[in-house]
Amino acid sequence: MTARIIDGKTISADLRGKVTDAVHRLRRDRGVVPGLAVVLVGENPASEVYVRNKSKAVTEAGMQAFDRKLPASTSEAELTSLIAALNSNEQVNGILVQLPLPKQIDAHKIIAAIDPAKDVDGFHPYNVGRLASGFPALVPCTPMGCIRLAKTVHSSLAGLEAVVIGRSNIVGKPMAQLLLAENATVTIAHSKTVDLAAVCRRADLLVAAMGRPELVRGDWLKPGATVIDVGINRVPGDGGKSRIVGDVNFAEASKTVGAITPVPGGVGPMTIACLLLNTVRAACAQKGLPAPGL
Ligand code: NAP
Repeated sequence: MTARIIDGKTISADLRGKVTDAVHRLRRDRGVVPGLAVVLVGENPASEVYVRNKSKAVTEAGMQAFDRKLPASTSEAELTSLIAALNSNEQVNGILVQLPLPKQIDAHKIIAAIDPAKDVDGFHPYNVGRLASGFPALVPCTPMGCIRLAKTVHSSLAGLEAVVIGRSNIVGKPMAQLLLAENATVTIAHSKTVDLAAVCRRADLLVAAMGRPELVRGDWLKPGATVIDVGINRVPGDGGKSRIVGDVNFAEASKTVGAITPVPGGVGPMTIACLLLNTVRAACAQKGLPAPGL
């Protein structure tokens, strides 16, 4: 079998186009221009690239980007007061604090300081609790993107045997909650799971999010399964260069499974598109407007 490639670039471009149209209508019909504040503390090169890409995407979608760049020496109190100012700024509908933060700052405290209505990353305990309780919430962007990618293969995820590898607050746990909300039968695997290969072989839908390059091998996968590979791992490539691979051995997996996301070009672009969608949803909720049906 040769797997169908789930083309995250094309699927995310389509979603971004729809978000851009929704932003245009909001501006034209309601005079509302959604705004996203992206806060970066310090000079982590990877974070700088992520932040630049997010702000560019926000502007391209017709929204306002409020970039806030602070030195690595910023104190927790200084960052908390910036968050308070963004919370009360009516032009700012979404606040994203790029992680990781320097070690003198407690990321949990900072996330808890964000107004839950502006928590477009979906990391605030209020939104986490609402998602776990099955109530509408702002949902983390990466798992939201994974669900949308899986639904390009399966119109319904109900009844599927889903395995999520990884239990982080950013990906694994919210991923499992979203799959449960879709009525999948969900197993969460992690570093202490015994016989991970056997657990994976049960999966109709496998979401790999552990940050271990190509750990999942072709013979761990059920023939015809759908694989969503969240992993982003930099490994040595040809000629002294590096290359990016996922958590699944793509060459092996694509001979067995029914559909698979590539790395890069799968989950990554969807994450940004979902961030834009969350920002528009947050803006609509704050203005008492119906959310766009996207
Ligand atoms: P994380 O916080 O490091 O969590 C990794 C999880 O994987 C942990 O729950 C860990 O288990 C589990 N794990 C580690 N080694 C394992 C093994 N050998 N077998 C089974 N489980 C194992 O990572 P994360 O933030 O969730 O990110 C995961 C990956 O996704 C990374 O490669 C990251 O770069 C990528 N990512 C991509 C996007 C995107 O937009 N595409 C967004 C976010 C993250 P324990 O809990 O037992 O330690």
